[in-house]
Amino acid sequence: MELVFADAHVHSNPIEGLGAERIAKRFSKLGGWFMALVMLPPWHYGLRGIKSLEEYRKAIEIHVSECKRAREYLKVACFAGFHPAEVDELIASGLSPVQVLELGFKVIDYVVILCRQGILDGIGEVGRQHYKDTPERFAVSYTIAQHALIKARDYGCLVHLHLENAGPVTVDTIDYYVNVVNVPRTKILFHHSSIRVAKRASELGYSSTIAGKKELLRTAFKEVGPIFMLESDFIDNPKRRCVSTCPWDIIENQKELTQEGIVDEEAIWRVNVDNVVKYYGYSPP
Ligand SMILES: [Zn+2]
Ligand SMILES: [Zn+2]
Repeated sequence: MELVFADAHVHSNPIEGLGAERIAKRFSKLGGWFMALVMLPPWHYGLRGIKSLEEYRKAIEIHVSECKRAREYLKVACFAGFHPAEVDELIASGLSPVQVLELGFKVIDYVVILCRQGILDGIGEVGRQHYKDTPERFAVSYTIAQHALIKARDYGCLVHLHLENAGPVTVDTIDYYVNVVNVPRTKILFHHSSIRVAKRASELGYSSTIAGKKELLRTAFKEVGPIFMLESDFIDNPKRRCVSTCPWDIIENQKELTQEGIVDEEAIWRVNVDNVVKYYGYSPP
């Protein structure tokens, strides 16, 4: 069986980094068939001092054209959202929390229009800061994420959640809200999950991604089996290359674990194909 690989959460930066085309080309050469490409905060694309939806639309446009470029090499799911770090950055740059909340809602509303048109596959990233922050910034981020979940329910978009990774409580606090507003759990992915978060997410019928680091993978396959997808969370910044992992490294790591007999090919297939097809709805390679 020929092994194929997916990166279920990765970023590209056409301004300062390699850009989607080069990333996709290199990833597909090694056996990559799929990637979920997620928008970076606008300042990564050289767009600073953003205050309006109009300016955000430019960032989304750049990202959508990145998705198009990558599609020449593999299947791509395309996501745009409003990252908790964007909330922090915008408030730090002088917007009031209410202004950021309103801008976040507008951005999400625009993203779901593109979802409905088939230009985007989903909303991502939204969620909660994974670091200590002021209470109002946290509240703004989480409220934007809640807005995104309601819109995902109404328009059938997928959602990548960026959360704090505190074990089962991270999943259960989201699950409480998801049940109140009735969002299909199959639409929601817990991104950059710890093994404990991935396990709880899977128990409740959610998808998750864990970082494709070798030692983490070794433990994850052993402790919970192939219930997750893998992500590089590559941010394509030449100064901080492979902060999490590089897309090609997650492939190498899986090949090595297979050769070492830690993971069998069936588990690799589940993680890279079955789970991807189930969540993203793309046909298998
Ligand atoms: Zn994230
Ligand atoms: Zn990310």
